[in-house]
Amino acid sequence: MAAAESDREVPSALCTEFLNFSVKDTASKWLQVTDLYKEVYHHLARYVPKIYCLGPNLNPQSEDLLAQMLLQAPLEWYLCGEDPSTGLAKLEQNNQPSQLCGHVFKVGEPTYSCRECAADPTCVLCMQCFLGSVHKEHRYRMTTSGGGGFCDCGDTEAWKKGPYCQKHEPNISDSCHEDPLAHLSTDMIARCYNVFSIVLKYAVDMLTWDKEDELPPGLEPPDRSDSYYCMLFNDEVHTYEQVIYTLQKAVNCTQKEAVSFATTVDRDGRKSVRFGDFAFCELAKSVIVRNTSRQSKPLRVQVMHSSVVAHQCFALKALHWLGHVIGYSDALRRILCQVGLERGPEGENSSLVDTLMLCDSKMWKGARNVYHQLFMSSLLMDLKYKKLFAIQFAKNYERLQSDYVKDDHDREFSVTDLSVQMFTVPSLARMLITEENLMTTIIRTFVDHLRHRDLQGRFQFERYTAQQAFKFRRVQSLIGDLKYVLISRPTEWSDQLREKFLEGLDTFLELLKCMQGMDPVVRQVGQHIEMEPEWEAAFTLQMKLTHIISMIQEWCATDERVLIEAYKKCLTALTHCHSGFADGEQPITLSMCGHSVDTIRYCVSQEKVSIHLPVSRLLAGLHVLLSKMEVAYRFPEQLPLSELSPPMLIEHPLRCLVLCAQVHAGMWRRNGFSLVNQIYYYHNVKCRVEMFDKDLIMLQAGASMMDPNHFLMIVLSRFELYHIFSSADCRKRYNRETANKDVVQQNNTLTEEMLHLIMMVVGERFEAGIGQVEGCDEIKREILHQLCIRPMAHSELVKALPENENKETGMERVIDCVASFKKPGVTGRGLYELRPECAKQFNLYFHHYSRADQSKAEEAQRKLKRQNGEDTALPPPVLPPFCPLFASLVNILQCDVLLGMLGAVLQWAVEPSAGHWSESMLQRVLHLIGMALLEERQQLENSSEDNDFNFTLKMSRPGEAPSNTASVLALLENLQNAPHLEVHKDMIRWLLKTEAGIKTLRERSASTSTVTASGSRGQEETACDKDKAERKRKAEMARLRREKVMAQMSEMQRHFINENKELFQQSLEELDASTSTSLEHSPTSSDAALVCVGPRRSRPREKRQVVTCILCQEEQEIRADGKAMVLAAFVQRSTVMSKNRKRPPHDPKRYDPLFMHPDLSFGTHTGSCGHIMHSHCWQRYSEAVQAKEQRRQQRLRVHTSYDVGNGEFLCPLCECLSNTVIPLLPRTKGSSSCEQPGLGQWLKTSGQQIKAMHSAHRKLQPVSTVEETVEEECPAPEVFTVNYIPTNPYSSTIKEMLTTFGTATYKVGLKVHPNEQDPRIPIMCWGSCAYTIQSIERLLVDEKKPLFGSLPCRQDECLSSLARFGSACWTAACQPTVQGHFIRLVAALIPDPLVEASPCILDVDMLHLLVSVVLSYGSVHSQDSSGLSVDAVQLHLFHLITVAHMVQILLTSGPEEVTMEQESGEAERGEEEGACRLYNTLRTHVGSSLPEVGSGWHLWRCVKTGILPYLRGAALFFHHLNGVPAPPELHALCPGQWEVLCGYLSLPSNLLQLFHSQQELLEPLLHGWCTHPGVQQTLQGGGVLVSFPRESNSLIDLPDDYSALINQASSFTCPKSGGDKSRAPTLCLVCGSMLCSQSYCCQTELEGEDVGACTAHTFACGAGVGIFLRVRESQVLFLAGKTKGCFYAPPYLDDYGETDQGLRRGNPLHLCHERYRKIQKLWRQHSITEEIGHAQEANQTLVGIDWQHL
Ligand SMILES: [Zn+2]
Ligand SMILES: [Zn+2]
Ligand SMILES: [Zn+2]
Ligand SMILES: [Zn+2]
Ligand SMILES: [Zn+2]
Ligand SMILES: [Zn+2]
Ligand SMILES: [Zn+2]
Repeated sequence: MAAAESDREVPSALCTEFLNFSVKDTASKWLQVTDLYKEVYHHLARYVPKIYCLGPNLNPQSEDLLAQMLLQAPLEWYLCGEDPSTGLAKLEQNNQPSQLCGHVFKVGEPTYSCRECAADPTCVLCMQCFLGSVHKEHRYRMTTSGGGGFCDCGDTEAWKKGPYCQKHEPNISDSCHEDPLAHLSTDMIARCYNVFSIVLKYAVDMLTWDKEDELPPGLEPPDRSDSYYCMLFNDEVHTYEQVIYTLQKAVNCTQKEAVSFATTVDRDGRKSVRFGDFAFCELAKSVIVRNTSRQSKPLRVQVMHSSVVAHQCFALKALHWLGHVIGYSDALRRILCQVGLERGPEGENSSLVDTLMLCDSKMWKGARNVYHQLFMSSLLMDLKYKKLFAIQFAKNYERLQSDYVKDDHDREFSVTDLSVQMFTVPSLARMLITEENLMTTIIRTFVDHLRHRDLQGRFQFERYTAQQAFKFRRVQSLIGDLKYVLISRPTEWSDQLREKFLEGLDTFLELLKCMQGMDPVVRQVGQHIEMEPEWEAAFTLQMKLTHIISMIQEWCATDERVLIEAYKKCLTALTHCHSGFADGEQPITLSMCGHSVDTIRYCVSQEKVSIHLPVSRLLAGLHVLLSKMEVAYRFPEQLPLSELSPPMLIEHPLRCLVLCAQVHAGMWRRNGFSLVNQIYYYHNVKCRVEMFDKDLIMLQAGASMMDPNHFLMIVLSRFELYHIFSSADCRKRYNRETANKDVVQQNNTLTEEMLHLIMMVVGERFEAGIGQVEGCDEIKREILHQLCIRPMAHSELVKALPENENKETGMERVIDCVASFKKPGVTGRGLYELRPECAKQFNLYFHHYSRADQSKAEEAQRKLKRQNGEDTALPPPVLPPFCPLFASLVNILQCDVLLGMLGAVLQWAVEPSAGHWSESMLQRVLHLIGMALLEERQQLENSSEDNDFNFTLKMSRPGEAPSNTASVLALLENLQNAPHLEVHKDMIRWLLKTEAGIKTLRERSASTSTVTASGSRGQEETACDKDKAERKRKAEMARLRREKVMAQMSEMQRHFINENKELFQQSLEELDASTSTSLEHSPTSSDAALVCVGPRRSRPREKRQVVTCILCQEEQEIRADGKAMVLAAFVQRSTVMSKNRKRPPHDPKRYDPLFMHPDLSFGTHTGSCGHIMHSHCWQRYSEAVQAKEQRRQQRLRVHTSYDVGNGEFLCPLCECLSNTVIPLLPRTKGSSSCEQPGLGQWLKTSGQQIKAMHSAHRKLQPVSTVEETVEEECPAPEVFTVNYIPTNPYSSTIKEMLTTFGTATYKVGLKVHPNEQDPRIPIMCWGSCAYTIQSIERLLVDEKKPLFGSLPCRQDECLSSLARFGSACWTAACQPTVQGHFIRLVAALIPDPLVEASPCILDVDMLHLLVSVVLSYGSVHSQDSSGLSVDAVQLHLFHLITVAHMVQILLTSGPEEVTMEQESGEAERGEEEGACRLYNTLRTHVGSSLPEVGSGWHLWRCVKTGILPYLRGAALFFHHLNGVPAPPELHALCPGQWEVLCGYLSLPSNLLQLFHSQQELLEPLLHGWCTHPGVQQTLQGGGVLVSFPRESNSLIDLPDDYSALINQASSFTCPKSGGDKSRAPTLCLVCGSMLCSQSYCCQTELEGEDVGACTAHTFACGAGVGIFLRVRESQVLFLAGKTKGCFYAPPYLDDYGETDQGLRRGNPLHLCHERYRKIQKLWRQHSITEEIGHAQEANQTLVGIDWQHL
């Protein structure tokens, strides 16, 4: 009660104060006083509590008004020293605006970045600036803002090029260094300073105030009331549901109010949920705390005195005001910055800005947002103070981050989020590193937060608690800050920067040391591990650090001194790590092929091994830089090269690579998935750059410093293969080793992996510094190898390439050298194809191929070679030379140990035995030999002086142990003819040829004496080659022929399957075709034109109609007394053709569907897949489905794509969603025509019949309702027997199916429960028939297809069934009911005094009327025995309705358009005159509501175009009802359609004759229609006026550029939560409404369930079916009902022809009209639901989505 009273008191209490208050006086007083601070505080203490927070229902508008008057106005006056309206204007005039745009982004607003010019990806432009910038012509990236952040236009540091847009281009005359304060008077500056310091201090005081019941000194209110708020604060722990539930209990509110409270708390961070005296609020608080403390920490609630809340409200207002005022002038902005950063009384870090920052995590969300905004528009917009602020920010950094880690709000609400605004500015970042040691601070803060370590001081993430995991997630943002700081590399180094960077590097190495060796694994033998160990945290850390590690290397690469120091530090760190690995390994000596080496005994398969080696890998990276920057050659003396111990360097990387090999070999199966995952990520594109790649480099670095034989022996030993290759008789392995098969298999795989590793160590030279390559060669090679697998889309390539810290792959620069882009087809995406000349660079053993990639690439490349008629050898490519530092690596290829290994494997291959060798092993050996040969050839070709690389010599030497075994060359020659190595023949031949070529080369450079000999040998060889080539060509031809035959066969097979699917449809088609051919030959119809309605209608010969049941495959004739055959059908409500989406849905209980309004706002559509079944087969099938589904649902609780409970099922053949079946009925036989009555005669007869029926029906009615009427008994015409009950011609199964389909249409169309007795059932069926015809007619027009012959036969079949069903459905209903419908339908045309409330003709859709009246006539005709033919009646009804439609069209034709007078031909004169006469007659009846139209041409054109859809619909209808084939002219789009159509419909082509020839009879009817009160009313604008023809509805127009949509959506606010941004703005593509989807705020109740905005909209806009565009996601959403939905590809594509669902790629997107038309077509043909069904069947996860909440 108290609340209500105080609410009312507000105006009166303030009224007097308000009237007496003078802004000017107050301000003048302030100008006089000495202690302004005290004075203003006093003023605030007095007024603030009187304006704010006076009741529970805050009324912001009046509050804001009062605050403006009483509080802000005097401040502004004081500030200006005059009336602020003039003072502020002056300020604005003198202002020289800064060049920075500084536009602050709203959530979801589009932002643009330039991939070419932006300093880093955080540099963005707003849409306005972007459109005016040079970057719109560049390769740009488009994203949506997450809110916060501002436009970087005008910031020269943010852009390498084009920093200004046109608007922010600096004026050259401006001197930008001028102090903005220079334009202001000293007085003004002083006043400004005073006001800002007081107001800012006040705001800081209030926002950081933590007492609930007291105020800061000087602000105590003059009088205190006992009024409190119970304030609920936001946290990210409790869910919406918990909060809502708790609130309902605690403060006794409705669910709706609770939702609103919860929404506000989530948005603003706090909300008062109760107002009243202290005890009252305290009670609510205790309930809330009690209710939420059980699961977790309780919700935060405070009981606060109203005056405290009031001051806090005004404090926020004051901050807003400051932001507003500084917008007038840069000078004011600077003063505010100065005030904010001025050191406070407590010394360092005590300025107001510091105070705010340090209290950040204690404030509620709303307050934080407001002050962050103010910081952005003040401190960050002033270049001088941005720097000072950055320094303060860096000083407080550690504390702020610690607060943030403890805070439970997301980072976007934390002041730490501002780091991006400063750290990404290169000059600031560098200044902060040198002056505030920021790099070290960030890393140290990060390390400090990860305290959990093992005994060796390494991170330990195992057994992390939830809280630690949360903290771990939070501190990751620090890595983001580090990235910002490092993102732009220095161009010049100062000593100080060097010092601080290296200090930072030291800290960073400390961090890496904690990671080196973390999460070690030990091979599990015997039992499988019990629990998967935690691995993700360590990998998360590694992934997050990947870019940092790369960037640190890049920094080092810009300065030699830094690089040298960094290398030393890193080496020291690594040595330190190794001393920590006290593995206690025993030294052993290995010897092989006459070489020996000392190493340690260590087995990866037995001891601990870790995949995390960041220190080693950083050193590897730096080592490459030594070579790349040539430091190693220029300053070798400064490097600690002598301290390097190569075996130590390679030890751990080698172990890691061996681990991978052993996992591949299946030795670690018992260690579970965690290890598999780690190995996967180790090689994955996201991690490999700083993991796998660097391990390989370390091996290269180590090996380059070692004797190759020693290196290989250590490798063999670590691979645990040493014993195999070192034994004296290793070539006889098959004899010796008979151990267990698994071990043999393992060793085979390990050998393969080891050979591969050797290839990589020698062959991977594409990193600049290792090989002599350019920077872009590496990426070129990556792309090339991806495209060797198959042509790829842009997005696929991007995914396969590593991204740098700017999210760039560098692909665009080089892609054109290696690939050509093939434009996409209509719906496909564009693909890059490898340029053919690049294929020779293909390396089968490319180090980034997975095994699957490798085999795919191999297959593709072999196929390509075959297609080109080449041999299928895939020799290694020619490689670039090594850089000097790595040059010695080539010697691995010719060292004794390798040759020994090669010989062994070749020997095994010569004499293979079960399982002791593998083809891949051999393939690798051949590849290695190839590499060696190429290396030799290249060295021979390139260098003039002798070199010592002579592999050909070594390969022809016999093996050493046992003595005089075959040489490698001999073994190769031997293998050339081995039958079991067919696949490798080409390769062996290539090797031998290359070897011979090299020999020739060597010989040529040696003596000339052997020339003849070698020459003759050469000739021999060529002859031999020729022979071989010929044989090969033949073989190739044979193979090609074989392939072609195979292809043909598989094509035929596929065709056959397709055909079978269509088989059943085809059987129907054939039937149709045969009927039509028989017709052509029948003499009766060949001369006469085809007519489909009326006594003259053509009578096709009756033919047996036989169909096949898809379920039992039996044939069945369609007969009235036969077994029922049914067609699977799907009935749905539709608004596709609606011309009035504002019409509210009908009340299903009361709605009378007899007359369809011409706006077609709701219709019922029936579609079918055309598959036919026996009714009993179908019944059995659907019972089985139901039983199965029930079982399945009980067991698995899964949804299905179809709702069994609702009668839905999938067509057993094509899986098309269906919900009922239509019975197939035979064509009704035409009666022989005797003399038929004319219109006048018929009107009379039917009038009598109707009267007779009226009286008969009256008798049927229960006595009580019959009024006492004294009407005379109407004698029925003798031939009309009202009581005659005709025999039902249909079999019982057909009757049953008639009921089934009727009930289904009724149930779906009206959304009611099934009721077989409802009189509306036949009406719904007729309506569905008419609506389906209309929709098909529209579709044919839209698709520009002829009226007949172009429909798929499933639609033809569906229409025929619908029409015939419609004419038979009365037999399943109560006959008088149907007759009653007929009477009412006729009464709309021929006035009947006994029928009340007939609609006016403007409210009737004439095709619906035609279909209903014709189909209902059967019920009347059955009682007529006069010989009156149905045909005659159909024609009379049709003519009558056609006249009515013409009248309808003329009435709605609208005024004449101002066009040139058209000259019309003689032929049309008659029509025009007729149209004029009819129109003038109408005017005499209707009067002035109808404008005068002089042009007959205009009127006739209106009639002709307006009536065409109706005539086409009627033609479809009668065609299917009466089965008369359509004239051939209507099967094409040729001219003269009108005449043919009229002829087919038995109409004169001058339609006006219909009226004029029967004018006396029709004139009274016309009068009746026109004088209906509804006509006048509608014409004068009282109703929905639909004009004809009705245009087809289209989906809304979409903008070409997707960012226009994003922009539109970003300014869209949730309609329910007062101006709040919507999280998932979603556009209805049918009507263009924007909705707030997937959000609590906009949930509504629909039929007793909570549904999201989209589902709710769907019911109003699309009768349950909806098509939406989710703007943020760039995704189309289809919804049907509450449970069905799917996502669909959006119609927006980038230049590569690809969509970007989720806007992750960020390429500019443009509308693809074809795709959009495809979506529109799905909608127009009512296939959305079907599409969803198919999508859900294909992807079961779609079924689980909670579609109704979208
Ligand atoms: Zn801008
Ligand atoms: Zn701009
Ligand atoms: Zn650019
Ligand atoms: Zn069957
Ligand atoms: Zn089907
Ligand atoms: Zn809509
Ligand atoms: Zn909303």
